[in-house]
Parts: sequence; structure tokens; C-alpha cells
Amino acid sequence: MPELPEVEFAARVLERAALGKRIVELRLLHPALRRRAGEECTEHVRGRIVERVERRGKHQLVTLDDRSVLHVHFRMSGDWVVATRDDAEPRHARAVLDFSDGTRVALVDPRALATVTLHRVGSQPLPELGVEATDPALDAAALGRALGRRRAAIKMALLDQRVLAGLGNIYAAEALWHARIDPRAPASSLRTASLARLVAGIREALAAASDDPGRYNRGEAIDRFHVYGREGEPCHRCGASIRRIVQGGRSTYFCPRCQRLSPSLRRALP
Ligand SMILES: [Zn+2]
Repeated sequence: MPELPEVEFAARVLERAALGKRIVELRLLHPALRRRAGEECTEHVRGRIVERVERRGKHQLVTLDDRSVLHVHFRMSGDWVVATRDDAEPRHARAVLDFSDGTRVALVDPRALATVTLHRVGSQPLPELGVEATDPALDAAALGRALGRRRAAIKMALLDQRVLAGLGNIYAAEALWHARIDPRAPASSLRTASLARLVAGIREALAAASDDPGRYNRGEAIDRFHVYGREGEPCHRCGASIRRIVQGGRSTYFCPRCQRLSPSLRRALP
């Protein structure tokens, strides 16, 4: 699933392709997108100019010249592919934006779970979101406040977009590895020193991704991970075998040696 760095990269791609341009047509090719967005959406955006492209968490907001907003969420496999109207439509194109200068931006999404919805002035396109994972103001105290009294495992709490916006399954695991924190530790059990390491770990995991925005789902960036997808391989720090467990129905990868729980917390685990 595209997470903060991939969505940020995609939003910049869309911005470069679309900013200041007039939309000739938005075609919703997939029936699920048509059902959700409706005819009204395609009618509404025709002739509008793209004034702003922003990212918040894993959401993209495209503001049009009447202040209405197209909200896009890539979900599992969405991405933008920029071409011209003369090019063949890419495989798995689910929606297509044609611009008056001949630019064509396709929402390519093999899993067909991405969403596009139109929000008129005054309607809030975003769900409740926590502080941005890249916010410079994020520190141990702010993260502690965001986690509050959550007793859920810290990995699960990091995936909750109301706590922290932008992390997904991959960067949450990577951040916890950097911070040497067991992904099963109860969120509310982390003290200031651990929270400070976690904030630094989040920054480190996201910085590595931003330096190399190749999409991991194309296998371009898998080498940069320390734990994700590396079950049974040696930890880059201590050499122990990376372990995979399932939390909330999804795989969590971690090093059982350098991400150890304190003995008292280990005894308290289910
Ligand atoms: Zn290790």
C-alpha cells in the first residue's frame, strides 16, 4: 500500500502534470468509481482549472477553481501515470483526467480499490487525521499525547491514522526497528526515552523512502528495508533472524533480539 512517501511523490507528479491546467474531461472507467463519484462528479469538473494539489496523510486533495475538491485515496495499489491524449490508455487505468493542453493523467490501480470523490465548497473531504508523520513539531511529548492511553500494540496504534497520519504497514515496522521497540509493546507503556527513539525512527524510515521514491510494489525499493519482507533473513544490526508475526490480520516483521520487550511486559503479553 502506498504510504506517506509514495503518496507525496505521486501528489508531486500530479501537481507537475496538472497545476494551472483546464480539465477537458474526467472519465471514470471502473464501475466502482462511477458508483461512488457519480455522473455529477464528471459533469462538475469539466472545464475547471486545477488550482492546488496537496497531500495529507495518505490522502490527495485536488482543489479546483471553484474551490471544490477532488479527494483521491490510492488504497492498496493506486498510482498516477502521466501521458498524452495520443498515447494508449495504460493497463489497469481506472480513471482518466484529460487536460486542454493534451496532457492525460491516468489513475492506474490493479486492485481497483482507489477512490475518487468530489467535495463541494464547505464539505470536509478528509476523515479525522492525527499529526503528520513528517511534521517537524512531532516530538516525544506530541507522540505520547497522540497515543494517549491506547493499550493496543504500538504497531497497531501507529497504523491508526487518527493517531499519526501517513504511516502504513511497511514504515511502521521499519520505524519500530530503528527505534528498537517490540511491535507488540502496548502503546501506553512507552516512556519518554522510547517515544523519542520512535520519533527518530519514524523520521529515519521516511527519510530513507524520500531519498528513493521508487515504489516498493514494483520491487524497486525493497532493498532499503531492514525488516519488512525479510522473514528469516539476518538483522542488519545484530544478525538475528527477522521474525514475522500477524497483528490485526497483517504481517509485522521485527528483530526478536534488538527489539526486545522488557521482561515484565513480555510476561504480560497474551
Ligand atoms: Zn537485530
